[in-house]
Amino acid sequence: MGITYRRVLLKLSGEALMGELNYGIDPAVVHSIAQEITDVVAEGIQTAIVVGGGNIFRGIKGAAAGMDRATADYIGMIATVMNAMTLQDALEQNGVPTRVQTAIEMQEVAEPYIRRRAIRHLEKGRVVIFGAGSGNPFFTTDTTAALRAAEINAEVVFKATKVDGIYDSDPKVNPNARRYQSLTYGHVLSHNLRVMDGTAIALCKDNNIPIIVFDLSGKGNIKRALLGEPIGTIVGGSCEVS
Ligand code: UDP
Repeated sequence: MGITYRRVLLKLSGEALMGELNYGIDPAVVHSIAQEITDVVAEGIQTAIVVGGGNIFRGIKGAAAGMDRATADYIGMIATVMNAMTLQDALEQNGVPTRVQTAIEMQEVAEPYIRRRAIRHLEKGRVVIFGAGSGNPFFTTDTTAALRAAEINAEVVFKATKVDGIYDSDPKVNPNARRYQSLTYGHVLSHNLRVMDGTAIALCKDNNIPIIVFDLSGKGNIKRALLGEPIGTIVGGSCEVS
């Protein structure tokens, strides 16, 4: 038996919605992610989601190509709104009431971010998807996930990635690499482990919010993780290898 969470925050990168494509959104992948979230919500877990935009646009790439960084970041934030609306559509097709709240106002398509309203939606069993990141350039959606988790009093941040946890060295290079079952925030920061950016880790550390890093690609993993099965690596405990 795992832990039963009451309120969780799931961070999905934009790339998670891309599947095997090189760009954009794969509707079949979105549908399958939405199905797992639907099953989690059916168990009464209050679920908030922060979605990235890397499948469409990343500010840092725009800046590397000569764009003004802040402008590029705003474009990146707007990209996340497309992903948020796509996920909302898929969840609502499954009959799950869902609200998108954006940190940059776009009231024709979504609610503005209002913390107390987000909490109310969650209490009513609605999924809340936070779009447009934090609303500030030079930040990431990982940091947004940590920020929103703290604001809505989520018990945990789930970071869905392409690897099944955090290793002591690169498992693709080193066949003897060992996977951590749990890690301290300090270890992640001091070893510069690329789980989430440092700002996100520091924010979770300050607010005592554990981060569970797990592999999104395994079918059923989102459901397993959010329903509290031990999976991936937990940041926020002691350092233990599995
Ligand atoms: N972004 C930003 N401020 C935020 C969140 C996101 O400026 O608070 C921009 C930034 O340009 C980033 C892009 O939005 O590259 C997409 O988000 P991110 O790269 O975090 O998405 P992911 O890697 O999760 O797909």
